[in-house]
Amino acid sequence: MADTHIKQQMVKLIELQKIDSQIFDFNRHLAEKPKEVEALKIQFESKKTKLNQLEESLKKVQLVRRDLEVDMKSKEEQIAKANTQLSLIKTNKEYTAKISEIESMKADKSIIEEKILLSYDDADKIQADINQEKQIVAQEEKKYLDRKKEVEDYIKDVEHKINQLKTNRQLIVPQVDKEILIRYEKILKHKEGIAVVPMKGAVCGGCFMNLQPQRINEIKAAQSLIECDMCSCILYSEENI
Ligand SMILES: [Zn+2]
Repeated sequence: MADTHIKQQMVKLIELQKIDSQIFDFNRHLAEKPKEVEALKIQFESKKTKLNQLEESLKKVQLVRRDLEVDMKSKEEQIAKANTQLSLIKTNKEYTAKISEIESMKADKSIIEEKILLSYDDADKIQADINQEKQIVAQEEKKYLDRKKEVEDYIKDVEHKINQLKTNRQLIVPQVDKEILIRYEKILKHKEGIAVVPMKGAVCGGCFMNLQPQRINEIKAAQSLIECDMCSCILYSEENI
């Protein structure tokens, strides 16, 4: 005959195990969530790479243009200066030489002007690409934030469920003998959430190793709590419950 007190304690341990398994599973899921959010963030940040590159090229085009504008101004000053010198020239030879010098400077100025105009075209093209890319990034950001919110809601929901389970657990704990509870919790911690398992035929329901006939008899007799020799889980016979 099974010991009634042991049998009752076993029933309580099985109830506790049911709750603790759920708490362990939920905590395991929760532990993965920050990594998941971080991965989503990295994925979203990578979508901004093209936009950043485009903004960099726009800056480069603008810098080059600023240099060209400085060149152009200096070229204009040189031309003005040469024109002033022209009126002071006495000989035809010198005059012709100065005119040719001015023409050459004007040609240089035209080339710079042309480059400045082209740089405006380039900037417009890049700006159009930036506007398009900004829209894509905004869509990606929305997707990221929506998914992040989903994960955060899931975390809140799971935390709420864990709290409920802990409340239920507190109702059972006072009904378990202190020594048995300490033993149970020690195994639970060590075996990552599994401390009480049924005997399955002649094998342990925790590690699935064969049980000694002596152990099987002890489990059936249920005079005390019997642990598996291999995995240390507390074993029970479903016939007794
Ligand atoms: Zn075992």
